[in-house]
Amino acid sequence: MKYDYDLFVIGAGSGGVRASRIAASFGAKVAICEDRYMGGTCVNVGCVPKKLYVYASEYASHFEDSKGFGWQADSVTFDWPTLRAHKRAEIGRLNGIYETMLDGANVEVIHGRGKIIDPHTVEVSGKTVTAERLLIAVGGWPFVPDIIGKEHVISSNEIFDLEKFPKRLVIVGGGYIAVEFAGIFKGLGAEVTQLYRGNLFLRGFDNEIREFAAEEIRKKGTNLRFNCDVSSIEKQADESLKVNLNDGTFFIADAVLYATGRKPHLHDLGMENVDIKLTDRGYIAVNGQFQTSAPSIYALGDVTGGMELTPVALAEGMALAKSLYNNQPCKVDYSNIATTVFCQPNIGTVGLSEEQARAEYKNVIKYRSSFRAMKHTISGSQERTLMKLLVDGDSDKILGAHMVGPDAGEIMQGLAIALKAGATKADFDSTIGIHPTAAEEFVTMREPVSD
Ligand code: NDP
Repeated sequence: MKYDYDLFVIGAGSGGVRASRIAASFGAKVAICEDRYMGGTCVNVGCVPKKLYVYASEYASHFEDSKGFGWQADSVTFDWPTLRAHKRAEIGRLNGIYETMLDGANVEVIHGRGKIIDPHTVEVSGKTVTAERLLIAVGGWPFVPDIIGKEHVISSNEIFDLEKFPKRLVIVGGGYIAVEFAGIFKGLGAEVTQLYRGNLFLRGFDNEIREFAAEEIRKKGTNLRFNCDVSSIEKQADESLKVNLNDGTFFIADAVLYATGRKPHLHDLGMENVDIKLTDRGYIAVNGQFQTSAPSIYALGDVTGGMELTPVALAEGMALAKSLYNNQPCKVDYSNIATTVFCQPNIGTVGLSEEQARAEYKNVIKYRSSFRAMKHTISGSQERTLMKLLVDGDSDKILGAHMVGPDAGEIMQGLAIALKAGATKADFDSTIGIHPTAAEEFVTMREPVSD
């Protein structure tokens, strides 16, 4: 063989691992390099530890809600080091599983940072290796804007392993990460302030959903502050941080989390050695087959700037491996990808927001239901749920389904199948509900709303 490998993958995150494993299963000679942690962002500082911390934080409301059902749970306490240690053990276990899985799939794992030398050569751990094709799957990295006192803030990379539990946490940003961590730390007992620069957080989600979620999050005690810009952050004599805002006010915090987006992790990758074009936003530009402008180099996942979601990277890795090594050309269908913000309560969504639907379709019919879940008739909690369906009045097709409420993520996965299959409102109406559930509301909304 002319090259050491058929495929050399840089980055063992969700997309890289999937592509390498499947390519090897089709008989390709594959190696993968990783300089940080097996499983990438999702396993180590993303989806997995985040969800474990969400579970931890939800106990607060469970204890509270249980009183109305006759339980006494007044003297419960939370121990941060215990949660952190158990999280570390679980992530360590998963790291091992990834390594074993790759090994079992005949993928050679090389620990070290890969640097591209030319379109077929990578330098890693002092060694030079060649491959017919390279795959860049290096993911993203938290972006923190240049503010005075930037050195005092943390990102989602650090928040999971803080030495001391931050009793007062300030979070800057209004996207997934900011909203999810506000919920986590509020539930765990911190005093949480979330600062967002715009009028309303979660830009891009359905407006009614954003407003409703803000109301519910406020009810649970997070101090949500919109139209807020940080001017500087100062460390005080007692180690606390003073977060100064442009309007002259300030907050004192034990930790400041910046969750202001992520950037492609191209640092020290050797991009200067190859002719790979970037998009306007600085991501690696690829065609529908994940090929970059350097024909032997491919890229997928967060580094390409699409929907930065693990299941998307997995689908891309699978499609690439099948296309290149199983003579099965395939593309990823990016329509109707369901997503969830794991705030409390969850936001679950699939398809178009009302704003997108009205921009694309002339005759949009809206169905909406807002209610207090059955559980809360006894728990005493004032939490409410919102569900929303958007229908194309001409074809009767469901264009979007949205929910703010417990388990919205779990519920939305099923609805995503229906939307993918092209379900109509008539299909929803003829589906018999599961009683008593909140989800049944999605098949019992009969009267459109006009506002
Ligand atoms: P997002 O892009 O979702 O949000 C970034 C937020 O930071 C926005 O509110 C943005 O404001 C704000 N922002 C950007 N730049 C600045 C700045 N200079 N000063 C102040 N605020 C700023 O990024 P996240 O970091 O939250 O998450 C990254 C991606 O990871 C997500 O887009 C998502 O794809 C993925 N993710 C998915 C999760 C899930 O599926 N549950 C969970 C966590 C992450 P504005 O809106 O005004 O631009």
